[in-house]
Amino acid sequence: MSPTRITHLIGHSSWDGTAERTSEVFNPATGEVTGTLDLASKALVDEVVAKAAKAQKEWGDASIAKRTRVLFAFRQLLDERKEEIAKTITAEHGKTHPDAIGEINRGLEVVEFACGIGQILKGGYNENVSTRIDAYSILQPLGVVGVISPFNFPAMVPLWFVPVAIATGNAVVIKPSEKDPSAVNLIADLWREAGLPDGVMNVVHGDKEAVDALLENPTVKSISFVGSTPIAQYVYETGTRNGKRVQALGGAKNHMLVLPDADLDLAADAAVNAGYGAAGERCMAISVLLAVDTVADELIAKIKERTATLTTGEGMGDGVDMGPLVTAAHRDKVKGYIDAGEAEGATLVIDGREGEWTGGTKDGFFLLPTLFDGVKPEMSIYTDEIFGPVLSVVRVHSFDEGLQLINDNPFGNGVTIFTNDGGAARRFQHEVQVGMVGINVPIPTPMAYYSFGGWKNSLFGDTHAHGMEGVHFFTKTKAVTQRWLDPSHGGLNLGFPQND
Ligand code: NAD
Repeated sequence: MSPTRITHLIGHSSWDGTAERTSEVFNPATGEVTGTLDLASKALVDEVVAKAAKAQKEWGDASIAKRTRVLFAFRQLLDERKEEIAKTITAEHGKTHPDAIGEINRGLEVVEFACGIGQILKGGYNENVSTRIDAYSILQPLGVVGVISPFNFPAMVPLWFVPVAIATGNAVVIKPSEKDPSAVNLIADLWREAGLPDGVMNVVHGDKEAVDALLENPTVKSISFVGSTPIAQYVYETGTRNGKRVQALGGAKNHMLVLPDADLDLAADAAVNAGYGAAGERCMAISVLLAVDTVADELIAKIKERTATLTTGEGMGDGVDMGPLVTAAHRDKVKGYIDAGEAEGATLVIDGREGEWTGGTKDGFFLLPTLFDGVKPEMSIYTDEIFGPVLSVVRVHSFDEGLQLINDNPFGNGVTIFTNDGGAARRFQHEVQVGMVGINVPIPTPMAYYSFGGWKNSLFGDTHAHGMEGVHFFTKTKAVTQRWLDPSHGGLNLGFPQND
């Protein structure tokens, strides 16, 4: 089958131009090229931004009632069409079908949060801040906002931002990952069906050229970025230098600390689920297991036993637990880390470079679950974000040693502790220097009405995604002071206004 052309969605229409540059999209389970993606030039991005700015003027003035109706219609359509979107995700990303459905469901929760926009957008009001003078605040849209998303959640990450941005009256230009671009096109088309006016939601596909065009265009007022730490830092620095608001979520190295009093079966289940789910290509994946010495052997045995029951294969296959990695280059990079771990002296308990997978072909980008024991903090498998199905066990002597390692780590996205000691868990939540914390929970991803984001090198900027932080990111606050004519207001007074 010849590759399908995948192109930009400008408002309600597919782009009808001819791209100067394209890139290939693969089916990771077979290694086949299934799509040819048009990459946007700077000129095209600027054109789309100008169109979005025009559309935003009207959308920003649309009543809350109208915006709410569009959001409810979009929520309904997204729920009805999730099968089709999930299949597209599996075909381009490789994750299993249930996992793809799961990411859409988490995105739906943000849409549901945004459906309450009337309640959320209420400002404050004080009567009589001074005699017969009232004051209130209102939240107004920024204008055109840019979103740049990573490959690992082709639906959920865009849905962290777009519903909140649109609900608050902005127009969006999104640049999805060039590795799995089609899910965003399907979702953008649902906004059209939901009644969103033409030009409010736009998709430009591309690479660095399109990202730089968004970062440089003065009409784009904010950038919401999710991806690896070096690019997050670049986007933050370039975007803020150009006068924009930027929230740039970066990479991760998430630890799970298992204390001797933990339920080890629960902890082993969680380590396997959070370590190998989505082939470790989750920003909240657990990649380091800190096991207190006294229980480390037993815990590793339980993890080994469970890992042996996992099936790796084509994401649509029945009973498949884990799919392939996203590209051959990424699979080779992860393999390189396994080689390095061995060379640096860690004990390879399970070697994912060997073994069979089901479905797909021999050219698929597969790697099986891998487990290292005896990992030391100076090894590259500990210091670097691997973003693959590689779990590293670091043995620690105590709670304090584990906590120290976590707090010394330059990343601070997610972390979790397994224990039955409430006092230890409470001390952990208080002292740990990480943005999202789990207690006996494998992946502590906050609900839509909280905000999602890490600390340290896992987030540049000061605003996390969705929840009230998302609402504030996409709005400007205006404070109004009002007085209505009254005879008592006359008279000259050049002094600074004071209240009485
Ligand atoms: P990536 O940084 O390679 O790409 C992210 C986006 O940036 C893509 O749209 C890509 O086209 C663009 N990009 C890539 N190189 C660029 C460059 N030189 N200049 C400008 N733009 C560029 O990330 P990825 O591989 O797609 O995603 C995986 C990474 O994302 C991991 O590090 C993961 O931890 C991180 N991530 C973080 C979170 C979070 O919430 N903190 C969530 C999901 C993923």
